Amino acid sequence: MTKVLFAAAEAAPFYKTGGLGDVSLALPKALTAAGATVRIVLPYYEQLFPEQYRDQVADVTHFWVQVGDHAQYCGIKTLTLAGLQYYLIDNQDYFGREGLYGYWDDGERFAFFQMAICEMMERVAFIPDVLHLNDWHTAFIPVLLAEKYYWIEAYRAIKTVLTIHNLQFQGIYNPIVLDSLFRIGTQTFTDDGIAFYDQVNFLKGGINFANAVTTVSPSYAQEIQTVAFGERLDGVLRANQGKLQGILNGIDTTLYDPETDPALPANFSVKALAGRATDKAALQKQVGLPVADVPVFAVVSRLTKQKGMDVLLDSLNDFLMTQKAQLIVLGTGEPALEQAFKTYQAAYPKQVAAQIKFDVNLAQLIYAGSDCFVMPSAFEPCGLSQMMAMRYGSLPLVHLVGGLKDTVTPYNRFTGAGTGFGFDDFQPAVLRKMMTQVCQVYHDTPKAWRQLQQQAMRQDFGWTTSAGTYLQLYQDIMS
Ligand code: ADP
Repeated sequence: MTKVLFAAAEAAPFYKTGGLGDVSLALPKALTAAGATVRIVLPYYEQLFPEQYRDQVADVTHFWVQVGDHAQYCGIKTLTLAGLQYYLIDNQDYFGREGLYGYWDDGERFAFFQMAICEMMERVAFIPDVLHLNDWHTAFIPVLLAEKYYWIEAYRAIKTVLTIHNLQFQGIYNPIVLDSLFRIGTQTFTDDGIAFYDQVNFLKGGINFANAVTTVSPSYAQEIQTVAFGERLDGVLRANQGKLQGILNGIDTTLYDPETDPALPANFSVKALAGRATDKAALQKQVGLPVADVPVFAVVSRLTKQKGMDVLLDSLNDFLMTQKAQLIVLGTGEPALEQAFKTYQAAYPKQVAAQIKFDVNLAQLIYAGSDCFVMPSAFEPCGLSQMMAMRYGSLPLVHLVGGLKDTVTPYNRFTGAGTGFGFDDFQPAVLRKMMTQVCQVYHDTPKAWRQLQQQAMRQDFGWTTSAGTYLQLYQDIMS
């Protein structure tokens, strides 16, 4: 049985800011179901840790991790939830804060986290066959295993997989950190090592040092090898092409099931869609829009340019003036974008609802009650929301890139095929035209609409296939 330690900076149901949090629950669960022994290691963000799990957390051990000149306390806690065992790395100075990321000392916080993981494995006597790392917060571990912990014999057989969920965040720091945090020399500070324009790049280190690198959709795996999507690492990724592959994320289809979802006023299924109308009315009411039979467009997203929110905003005025449609936006993000949606709400109070917050229950109601889920991302490693939307019968309208291209089949009005709508040309005018077309399909051909909904809901977005692909990858690098 393959032993896996899955390391991430966030995981549902404890803490989640985006797709990484979802994957860090669903993938270990699917790997376990497929026969692997998986444990998960996370930071213990005490202030954010949900109340209902607190009394299940037990202390395992503690020790000191040398961060530069300072010995830092490192507590190891554990809990088991739904058959999965978690290790939580505790240091109040680093992780006892109000948020997960975005602090001036994130480099030091995650340097500590990564060294703590390395030092923990021996102490808790869980030496995995595969250490599965995720994004820049844990990407430096393969470098540490090679440069700092090479003397620990038990670790020599450990293989590493690095999954890139978002290439945009890389963990770039002054090379001084090699000594001031990690206390390793400069021998890896080369172009084919960890050096990146005179800086240290954690993610690049992981790409060069891990045994295998994956990203979360096949299309994104190709795109990041180009200058347009490579975030200045395209050369490094091309050089590591042989160990790079795209494995599509899934969603937790037990948790996210319109037939049983407790967040919904009315449950429904592909065969009995009636409850959807109730959910749509409840949604309109809850966000303060008139309960009317007009197409409801929706966004559940970080409000950023990555998610194409600037392009959406630029397309809105003409669209709202000419179409009787509604738009519900749930999200937080860049202040200027948040403000712009609020301005639209003030200008079009009967058509736009801007819900500037993070609200998991409202998100579910939006998936279940909206008609068209707008996701015009500039780039999209995989994207989970569009899958969630399809599962709940909201037809995605997407920019056909990355995982969006791999999961949404654009409507073909001649054959009736499709699971949503898509466009290639990343322009506000194109998006507006598409939204207008969506309104036409909605009003003029309700039968075609219903068929698209059913096709979308019937897609298999479960984890089974992808978990099998990961297990195969583990086998390949172990042999
Ligand atoms: P990313 O990880 O790039 O932010 P994904 O589509 O992969 O995007 O995952 C986003 C996840 O976060 C989805 O589960 C989505 O429902 C959720 N989400 C995003 N914004 C909000 C919000 N404001 N309230 C509730 N859930 C949100």
